[in-house]
Order: sequence, then structure tokens, then C-alpha cells
Amino acid sequence: MRRTGREVGRCVTRTVSRLRGTGLVLEDCLGGWDRSARVWGGFGPAVGWGRSFRTVSGLYGLDGLHEPRDFDRLAKEVAERCDELAQRLKATPPSARSVYALDEISNEICSVVDVAEVCRHTHPSKEYVQAAERAYVRLQDYVASLNADEGLYNALSEARRVDGKSLSQEGARVALTLQEDFERGGIHLQGAEKKAFESRLSRSLELGMEFQRNLVRPEYFSEVELDEPVVASLPRDLRMDFRNNDITTQKWRGIIDPSTSTSMLRCVADSPSRREIFVAANTGPEPNKVVLSSLINARRDVAESLGFKTYAQFASAPLLAKTPKAVKEFLLTLSEDLKQTAAEQYETLRRYSPHFGRIPSWDKAFAMSQARGYECNLNSAVLSQYFPLDTVVAGIGELLSRVLGLHIEFQDLLPGEGWTSDLKKLIVKNEDGEMRGTIYLDLVPRPGKFNHAAHFVIRCSRMLSATERQHPSVALVCNFPPSSGSNRTLLSHGEVETLLHEFGHAMHSVLSDTEFQHLSGTRAPMDIVEVPSHVFEHFAWDPSALKLLGRHHSTGDHIPDDLISALRKSKEIFSALELQQQLVFALTDLELHNQQRDLSAKAIADLAASIQNEHCMFETVPNTNWELRFGHFVGYGATYYSYLFADILAESIWKRHFAGDSLAFGAGKVLRDKLLRHGGSKDPEKLVRGVLGDDSLTEVGGGFRPTRFL
Ligand SMILES: [Zn+2]
Repeated sequence: MRRTGREVGRCVTRTVSRLRGTGLVLEDCLGGWDRSARVWGGFGPAVGWGRSFRTVSGLYGLDGLHEPRDFDRLAKEVAERCDELAQRLKATPPSARSVYALDEISNEICSVVDVAEVCRHTHPSKEYVQAAERAYVRLQDYVASLNADEGLYNALSEARRVDGKSLSQEGARVALTLQEDFERGGIHLQGAEKKAFESRLSRSLELGMEFQRNLVRPEYFSEVELDEPVVASLPRDLRMDFRNNDITTQKWRGIIDPSTSTSMLRCVADSPSRREIFVAANTGPEPNKVVLSSLINARRDVAESLGFKTYAQFASAPLLAKTPKAVKEFLLTLSEDLKQTAAEQYETLRRYSPHFGRIPSWDKAFAMSQARGYECNLNSAVLSQYFPLDTVVAGIGELLSRVLGLHIEFQDLLPGEGWTSDLKKLIVKNEDGEMRGTIYLDLVPRPGKFNHAAHFVIRCSRMLSATERQHPSVALVCNFPPSSGSNRTLLSHGEVETLLHEFGHAMHSVLSDTEFQHLSGTRAPMDIVEVPSHVFEHFAWDPSALKLLGRHHSTGDHIPDDLISALRKSKEIFSALELQQQLVFALTDLELHNQQRDLSAKAIADLAASIQNEHCMFETVPNTNWELRFGHFVGYGATYYSYLFADILAESIWKRHFAGDSLAFGAGKVLRDKLLRHGGSKDPEKLVRGVLGDDSLTEVGGGFRPTRFL
């Protein structure tokens, strides 16, 4: 049985360059997916990615970046070079070479904007962050001007028409996706139509940002009053948010931050108090009723301008699923598939609820926590003793060596290359010593640093000549607790899983063998890009891999078998119930964005409630509205299903190629050869059939869904 202990959308794969054109993918609340402009990756080698044998380096490995003001110069130089390249391209008769020139432009821009993106989220110096933000905004504006350049668009479409046959399969796909991205940005529209499109687009972007802003405004958080013993039962950091302003009462008041409410619900033993906390966390912001309704309707208008009936049609067209019909079929089939197991798991859970009859939603987290403790006998604190950070990283290196035939080595940072003293640098090589790429590990928190787990692309892979490759470089950013004194950092099991997830993204980037940078590594459709990372998560639950990843911090012993069994039981015990909740989010996201008529705030609330009541064992609670706090509507917009999609495909890959002997030498060869090396350069349907077999996808509603749900 699969599960999704991972909160969907938790990881962030960031490749700025690929940011979809139309700007319809907005910034999400957590900095969700690709954030930014679109089509244009970066541009070529002009910025001078340092070659080997250097003794000094620019910051993040970017030559010429030695102090904050260098960002301004680098951004200016890139724009000037791209102007020259664009002029030359437009003045030359269209041919297959035009596609290479566009990829060169894309690579040039990425060389600086990708570094600006990672810098603004990770550099400890304010001056660097500000300079990176200036460069980022400047280049995003520049990208927008290229996306609106009809001369470039015409050159590309002419090149496809007159010389498309000269392109390789990959080149043809690059050209096709570039043209589609141009058109999804409305470049082909004229006059009043274009003006209307631009205004609708701008409105939808503004509404998305307003929705997100409202989520973090303290005035829209709700306050609760709890008894003193209840407050005393909270974890220390959450207890700090409560105050007793009147010593004559035993009541303490505090604001409920929805992002920490589940942690509270897990440990509060009093059901009425849990109800108060749950309702507070799932109420408001009131203004988002109107904002969400306007956003959904504005997006439909945008899609209509581009010839789509619904926004969901627009959003799914370039993805593997292809159509909202296919996505809906996928979600409804999954729902049916889950029902029986979910009902059985619900019965187990009922034993830990104080209520007869149905378990109220506010009791779910507490009952699950109790049940896991009694039924699985898992002691998380004991388990984490086996996961010192340095041991886990070394174990991942060994794992990559065995299953992918790679050689991973730590390398000292060159003077000027690193941005924090905690940074580690890994070099990835093939077995024969051939250099593949660089992975920076920035794993401990510090003030101002990006506060979620993420994979940042710093430089994409691509061919520089027939024999020379631009080596990719990525940063894995996490926030694991720092070691104190002589103590080593010990990871929770969830953190081990997160690190493996990010390494899955890193392998996608580092092992990419594409000729063009535009579709290298993680620049793949959204419902494919999370597949490798989900495959890697499986190692966190696999007994053989766990023996490799974990050693006791003081004795050096392997994790005992009974602890591994308890861990695996805890994964399975409520897997279907947890998946049901994600399915409700995905189905609501799809249905809201698949309407051809205006939706009122009430219609949205009714739709969300009816989906919850039909597809989840836990019913909606009156006077709550989770949908007003679901920031992923903004970042994903009709594609929230993609995490579930990737989860299921990854499980099939695991069972087919890893289960039985997960650490067999070369077990990951198929994954590497059929999926990772291609990035987004092949049709996603062919990629999946290649790695999982012809019958792995079912054609439905003009698109595809996984055949097997396992
Ligand atoms: Zn991810």
C-alpha cells in the first residue's frame, strides 16, 4: 500500500529558466514550483562557467561573481549579449540553427538568473541578497521582453516550417516546446484580443498574490482560549504563543497559526480543545472568499483568451496527463481503489477516538498519533539516534555508487566559491572517473535562509561541442537542526526521507545527457518531474538501504530489524486515509479550475465540502473552509494532482526495478538510462512507457493515467 506521509508540494524544485511563459504559474505560498518567467532558460557560456583546474572561483561557481555589485554588471552583460544574439538570429535566414541560437540565449540568461535565485534565498549577507534580487527582477523583465518579441517567435516558427526535418528528435521537441511556450504567453494574439489577454493575465497574477498575502496576515489568524493543562501539554515552542492575561482564570489565550496546528492537534488530549484549535486553523481569511472566486474566474478568462475552454485544459495540455478528463479519471479511479483499505484503517483508528460513531476531523491527528504509538511501537527518538547527518550523507553516497554506478567524493570549496561555512561540496563522477556534476549541500538553518527543503538548479547540463559537456551544478537546501558542541546532528526519519527526495532531484539534474539546456534535468513536465525524487524516497523505508543509511551515533551499530519493522508498519497503518486527504485537495483543485461558468464564493465552498464528504472518511466540519487557506491553488492551479501521479508512477518503478534487491549493483541503471538522462527532452508518455513498459499508461479522455495503482 502506498502512502504519502510527505505533505504534497513540500519539496521545491527550482529551475528558474523554465518558468512557464504565460506567468500563469504564479508564486505559490511556499515558493512552490518553478517561480518566474518562462521559456527562456539561460544563455550560453558567455558568462564563463569556470573550467577545471581553477584555483579560485566566483561565488556559487559563477565566474566574475566576487562581490554584490558584480550582479548588476553580470545581468547587464548578459542582456547585452542576448540582444546581440537575438539580432543576429533575426537577421539570419531561419534554419535548424535558429533553435540552437534560442537555446544559447536561454542558457546565457540562466547562467546569471539561476545563481541570483539561489543566492537571494541562501546568502547570509543582506547586500548579496539585495543585489541578487535586483539582478533577478532585471532579468525576469528582460525575459518578459524576449517572450513578447514577435521577431524571435516568427524566426522560430519559420525555422520549424522550413528546416524542421534537419532537427534531431530532441531539437524538434525543444523547438516545439519553445513555440508552445511563446503561444501560451499570447504572442500570436493581435490588437484588442491581445490587450484583453494581458489585462486578464495581470489580474489573475495580482489575485494570486493577494490570496497568498492574506494567508500570512496575522489579523486573519484566529484566537482560541484553552485551559492551563491543555497549554501545558503542548510542545515548548508552541506553548510560547499562549498568554494568561488574567491570573484569576486558568484560561490562556493564543493565536492559532494554521501551519503548526497539526502539531498541536497531535498532542492535545482534550477533544473539545482540539475542536477549537481545528476550527480556528480552518477558518478564514474571510477576504479570500472573494479573492479565490475572482482568481478562479480570472484564470478561466485567461485560458479562454488562448482558446481553451477551461483553465484546467490550459494547465494540463503540456503535461503527461494532457487533459482534465484524464486527470479526473485518474483521481476518481484512485478514490475507488482506496475506499476499502481506507475503511479498514478507519476501523483501526476508531479504537483510539473518544467518540462513538464517526471520528470528527479534529480528532484525526491525535487518534493517529496514539494509534501509531500503541500499534507500531515505534520510538522516533530512538530511531533518530541511528541517523547522524554525516553518516546519512555517506550512506547516500554509497547507495548512489551501488545502484547508479556513480563515484561521489567530497571536494574542498575553492576560495570565493562558498556562501556559508556550513557548506559541503560533492563531486559526482561516473565509474570511469568522468565528471558528471556538482552538488552543494546547504543543510543547516540560519536567519533569512529559505526555510523549506529545496533543490535549486545553479547550472544546467548541455553539450558545448560534440565532445564537451557543460557540467551541471545544483544546491540542495534543507534546514536540519545544527549540531551543538561535540554532539552530532541527528536527523528524524522524515528528514532522512526529505534528503533522499532532494537527492533524487539532484540525480535528475546531474545525470542529464541532453544536447540542449532548455529541457535538461528537472525541466520536465510537472507530473513527471517529481517521479525520480519519489523513487528515492523509497530507500528511506527499505530495510537494506536503511542498514546502509543509518548507524548508531555512539555505538556504530546498524538499525535493529525490529525498529525497521516498526517504522514500516507506521508507514502503512494509515496510508489510505492520508492519501484520501491529498486526493480531496487534488480533486477540488481540478474541479475549481475546470468550470466554464463563474463560480461564486458559496459555490466554491459547496464544491469543496461535497468532494470532501464523498471521497474522504472524515467529513467537513461546519463553519470551516480549508479551501480559503490552501495556498497551493495559486502555485499549482489545476495541477496539484501531479504529486499523487508521480507518487504512483514512482511506486511502480520501485516495485519493478528495485524491490527484492534494492541495492543490487546497477539496480538504478534502467532509471538512469530510461528516465534521468533524458530530462524533459522526450515525450513524457514515451519516457514512462520506456521505464515501466507499454502497458503502464492507460489512454483515457484524450490523455493518460497510470494503469496500475498497486
Ligand atoms: Zn520534489
